[in-house]
Amino acid sequence: MADKRDYYEVLGVPKEAGQDQIKKAYRRLAKQFHPDVNQDDSKAEHKFKEISEAYEVLSDDNKRARYDQFGHNNPGMGGQNGFSGFGFSGVEDIFESFFGGFGGSSSRRNRARKGADIREHLTIEFEEAAFGVEKSVNVLRNEHCSMCEGSGAKPGTKPEQCGKCHGTGRIRVKQSTLFGQFVNEQTCDACRGTGKIIKEHCTNCRGSGRVRKTHKIDINIPAGIDNGHTISLRGEGEPGTLGGPAGDLLVTIRVKSHKLFIRNGTNILLRVTVSFTQAALGAEILISTIDGKVKYKIHEGTQSGDKFRMRGKGMPSLRTGHRGDQIIEVIVEIPKKLNRKQKAALKEYAALMGEGQKTRK
Ligand SMILES: [Zn+2]
Ligand SMILES: [Zn+2]
Repeated sequence: MADKRDYYEVLGVPKEAGQDQIKKAYRRLAKQFHPDVNQDDSKAEHKFKEISEAYEVLSDDNKRARYDQFGHNNPGMGGQNGFSGFGFSGVEDIFESFFGGFGGSSSRRNRARKGADIREHLTIEFEEAAFGVEKSVNVLRNEHCSMCEGSGAKPGTKPEQCGKCHGTGRIRVKQSTLFGQFVNEQTCDACRGTGKIIKEHCTNCRGSGRVRKTHKIDINIPAGIDNGHTISLRGEGEPGTLGGPAGDLLVTIRVKSHKLFIRNGTNILLRVTVSFTQAALGAEILISTIDGKVKYKIHEGTQSGDKFRMRGKGMPSLRTGHRGDQIIEVIVEIPKKLNRKQKAALKEYAALMGEGQKTRK
């Protein structure tokens, strides 16, 4: 909001301007930048919004007083710009009230629109994330009604051309406004912009031409996908309106945690327990990896907490496909239960290590 222009500056009036002066300035600017005059000029549209917003605030004594005191950072008002509820829709309301809907906006409303996106979740196993997997999700979405083939008319009948707009979906309306007379194009209210009138509705879709249906959609999940990633399938969302493209299907992946492996980016952490003697003397042990068990040699004198890196045994990178490493953390286990013979052997070992004195104490 820092780059927001001062409302007085926007309207080009002094701070002490009276309501008449503000209204006059607004009318002049609104006429100049009105979207009907500047069709498809986004700069003019932005300007018009700015002007309208400034006018909305300065023409209201309460809002103006707050604005004078706090500027754009008006506390306690909520809303993005401090003046609650004054977003784009607020501007449109002003258009509506002055012009009965402005050309640009209503034609945009009438144009082809992209369908809504659909969001789904999918849970996969750790190994599936590592190697990639084919899955399918069931998605409930709209589709053309098969009974009427999407026309919405009862089978055997056809939608008829709307008499009011002659099938164009648009009507021209003369409007008297503060600024004089405008001829506006509007969405035809008789056919709601479709250009067609359905006399007898299809019973299957009640005239909408669409029915909700579950679709099974296959998803190719790439190797290396991580928990929380979202896969988007273009065009698998809700169908568009008036010939617009379908929305997308956005599938967020949940990867189940593994009982052994802990993922950290492309690396995998694994804790491996070895016995005291294995750690002391060194040993060849079997280590689990996502590719299966592999032999691994731990050296003599390995300490509890030592970490080893197994290169290329981690997760593949989603981008490059290169695999990270598996990091092994060695945990040395101290035996909890020893029989007499084992104890004797360890005591002998202790004596050899010169620890006899200390333990006898
Ligand atoms: Zn019509
Ligand atoms: Zn139907």
